[in-house]
Amino acid sequence: MKTLRVLSLGAGVQSTTLALMIEKGEIPMVDAAIFSDTGAEPKAVYDHLDWLETQLSYPIHRTQWRSLKKDIIYAALGENDSFSAPFFTLNSKTGKKGMLMRQCTRDYKILPLYRKLKRLMGYRWRQHVNKKKWHAEVLIGISSDEMQRVKENKLPYASNVYPLIEKDISRAQCLEWMKKNNYPEPPRSACTFCPYHSNKEWLDLKKNKDEWDEIVKIDELIRYADMQKENKITGQLFLHQSCTPISQAKLVNKKNDLQFSFDDECEGMCGN
Ligand code: SF4
Repeated sequence: MKTLRVLSLGAGVQSTTLALMIEKGEIPMVDAAIFSDTGAEPKAVYDHLDWLETQLSYPIHRTQWRSLKKDIIYAALGENDSFSAPFFTLNSKTGKKGMLMRQCTRDYKILPLYRKLKRLMGYRWRQHVNKKKWHAEVLIGISSDEMQRVKENKLPYASNVYPLIEKDISRAQCLEWMKKNNYPEPPRSACTFCPYHSNKEWLDLKKNKDEWDEIVKIDELIRYADMQKENKITGQLFLHQSCTPISQAKLVNKKNDLQFSFDDECEGMCGN
């Protein structure tokens, strides 16, 4: 049986540390890394990815289904189908707050990764993989402080591997390891407009004026978007959990300022 070993690369702190630990031989080598591009990462992540590529002897395959950012903008303008990003909702009649279902991780991160995985094994997307002939190991950069994100791979021919957890390495230890090895601190990897951002992360994004202006624009665009009808929401959509426009939201940087976070809402595919 052949084994394909790939790293799921988000280009954030944990997956970058894992990528470089593999390169240094601290973790067994992979055949390739796969970066699922949502088309909505901050420039810092794309720059970091370009740098990381120069540090690795194994290839990074960049793959993209569609641009989530464009899909959101066009859906908000009523020019294409609805989408499913986890925006905050405010019911205008009852004042009740909620959150839309999150489908984006699956559609824009997980499925493109699996498509690429199959292609690397020589299969087309709809083709059946003979699990007696192939097995894929997908290395995921979840650290020991994010145990709740560990999930079993549902594909019959693949299994998830969590080397940072096996080695009991936390996110803080990843940062220490990067520093000790004279590598730059990786940026937070996530869509610029992701509602899972903490106030600290929104404040960091605010430092880049162009990106912040675009975030404010997207926040305004989604407010009364047509998609609300399809989702049967009689209210407004927001990027910030306070359900106020992001340009006016109180971005107080304190610990545990977020009800929802990447740590418990994503499957190790966003934010690391
Ligand atoms: S980072 Fe946020 S918006 Fe982007 S795919 Fe993940 S959950 Fe969705």
